[in-house]
Amino acid sequence: MRKPIIIGNWKMNLNLEDARRLIVELRQGFIDVDERKIDIVVCPAFVHLQGVNFQLPVNIKLGAQDVFWKERGAYTGEVSPLMLKDIGVRYVIVGHSERRKNVQETDEMINKKIEAALSQKLFPVLCVGETKEEREKNLTDSIITEQVTKDLEGIKASSLEKIIIAYEPVWAIGSGKTPRGEDANKVAKLIRKVIEERYSKDQADKVRILYGGSVDQRNIKEFIDQPQIDGALVGEASLSANKFIKIVEQVIK
Ligand code: PEP
Repeated sequence: MRKPIIIGNWKMNLNLEDARRLIVELRQGFIDVDERKIDIVVCPAFVHLQGVNFQLPVNIKLGAQDVFWKERGAYTGEVSPLMLKDIGVRYVIVGHSERRKNVQETDEMINKKIEAALSQKLFPVLCVGETKEEREKNLTDSIITEQVTKDLEGIKASSLEKIIIAYEPVWAIGSGKTPRGEDANKVAKLIRKVIEERYSKDQADKVRILYGGSVDQRNIKEFIDQPQIDGALVGEASLSANKFIKIVEQVIK
């Protein structure tokens, strides 16, 4: 049985006061949530990680939105996995499509980030997904296969269990549009097949696969009910305590 996981990606939103207020509301909303039944993660901006961490209850874990692949040194502006680990971060989003697009993050860079995160025992949350144009050209399967293969290149089988993969169609992010649950499930199944071919069925069955892209309290059920989908990566709706709590409530029902 794979443990469900809901991750809130706050992106470049909220000031510290609002971030803390959101945590206070989430704490209250999740007061009866058993951390053995579900992993709940919030990913604030780097500058708010510590300020938020002080207020987190045991059933909400801290995640970062990115990481660099070196431990220390002359890398101006970067944040290392060692630094994240040191302040209590447990999860790290890697290869989000906004980074692939806005700062030209490549699969090679993403691969190094996953390696680096694993070296500090952080859980990497690898994002993969096709653009609208790629989908229209029926390239979804080949894009997903290529991204998963390149991003996991050289990753040891023993580390695989720590990796979470989020299928996030680029066209669904922030657009209010989503694929049908069955279609997202098919892509999750494909991801498992790619992993099985490179590792083993056993490993593939253990990896947690999430859906992400315009998830909210009204559509979460459609995705979480799919056999290959173990949770969601939530952007916009994670900024609302009310919506995020309702999402989690439906997952643990
Ligand atoms: C995301 O960017 O990871 C995401 C899922 O965003 P949204 O839920 O806002 O579409």
